[in-house]
Amino acid sequence: MYPLRNFTPAVNTLTENIIQRAPIGMAVIDFDGIYRDVNPAYCRIYGYSAHEFLGQSYTMIFAAEQRASILARHQSYIRCEIPDLKGEFDVVRKDGSRLQVVAESVRIPATDSPGMRLVYVVDITERRQMEQELLAAQAVQNVLFQTSPQGIIYYDPEGRLSSANPAAGRILGLRADEFRALPAHDLGWPLIQEDGQALSPNDFPVARVLATKESVRNVVIGIRIAKGPVRWLLFSAMPLWRADSLISIYAWFEDITERVQRDSALVAAASTDYLTGLPNRRTVMDALKREMARLSRFSDQPCAVLLLDIDFFKRVNDNFGHLTGDAVLQAVASGLQSQVRSLDVVGRVGGEEFLIVLPNTTLVDALTLADRIRQFVENMPIDFANMVHHVTLSIGVSLLCYEDADVSQVCDRADRALYEAKTSGRNQVCAQA
Ligand code: GH3
Ligand code: MG
Ligand code: MG
Repeated sequence: MYPLRNFTPAVNTLTENIIQRAPIGMAVIDFDGIYRDVNPAYCRIYGYSAHEFLGQSYTMIFAAEQRASILARHQSYIRCEIPDLKGEFDVVRKDGSRLQVVAESVRIPATDSPGMRLVYVVDITERRQMEQELLAAQAVQNVLFQTSPQGIIYYDPEGRLSSANPAAGRILGLRADEFRALPAHDLGWPLIQEDGQALSPNDFPVARVLATKESVRNVVIGIRIAKGPVRWLLFSAMPLWRADSLISIYAWFEDITERVQRDSALVAAASTDYLTGLPNRRTVMDALKREMARLSRFSDQPCAVLLLDIDFFKRVNDNFGHLTGDAVLQAVASGLQSQVRSLDVVGRVGGEEFLIVLPNTTLVDALTLADRIRQFVENMPIDFANMVHHVTLSIGVSLLCYEDADVSQVCDRADRALYEAKTSGRNQVCAQA
């Protein structure tokens, strides 16, 4: 590049080789700011050939309006003998595109000419662009963090809380300063699982992420804030990695209380008879199916089925009106419920028809119970609109059989037994084993 005094030709050749191959742009500039030499990397950065540089003022790489001041500064540095200069500059390539470079200029003391300076240049355009993009991404992330309707909490790799967004404060009923004390194994309030049991600290999603380094998604957690009613959160947490090291745990959650309440109200509505509050046909049939599945495993545990129908119920409606009919249905429903064990299932399966599933009950016991129910209802006064009504029941009894293909078979047998009870005078119990 520039032959240095006091060095052997071999050293000069070596230096020259290094300069020619260096990935860093290098140029030699004289007192007047004229290029005396440039290496290939310098040419690549600016898009000019060495030929185009040599003999030109180095201000050519600056925008036209900056050139005079740049040159004056260069010369004043040289005059003041400032040894090294370093800075970032906006420059212009031959094709007109803008670049950002870091340039460092050092004196070359061993040269003949005192004003000679060697300039190193590194193109940092891409790095700057990435920094800008990173800043923009961080700004977006910050807006999302501040405005997200989801609660967001970051924990450090040791499980200490590092930040929480405003929604987290709203959902958890905590002030910003109260978050500092939150550990990674709870949210500062009693936590419960979906089944109502207390959530163990080790099962809290953030604690699980800390232990396993795996994401935990969509865990339903109940939280009792300030002894208030349970609110339900849908909670997720994931580890954030940089290269191979855990840098943070990101937890996010939403308040799904309303959704949970709506869903359980829907489930209740879909499984219950609106008039009596008893399980409806589908629910009682599901219970029967469960008993049938159990029978296939424990064939020694019998299960009995009662089908009950109010006698001459149409007359109640006809003589006293529908409202009285409804009141009778409600009274019979609660009467039936009062006569059975808690594991028995009483359902309303038709207008004035009920079905009772009696797990672990023999035919003899079922007949005894059926007759007790029959007598109970017969003797039950039903008060409605200043009148007292009485109704009777006919009851068909049957047992689930190991050989039954499905629950309709036991229902058919109970139905035949019920028909028999009706035809033999009503207010009776009959069985079809
Ligand atoms: P049986 O002794 O043969 O059973 O005679 P029944 O009158 O009880 O039988 P039937 O099947 O002829 O009449 C049943 C009546 O139940 C007819 C229907 O109007 C009435 N019913 C069905 N669902 C309801 C209800 O939700 N409310 C009221 N009030 N009546 C109902
Ligand atoms: Mg009927
Ligand atoms: Mg009837």
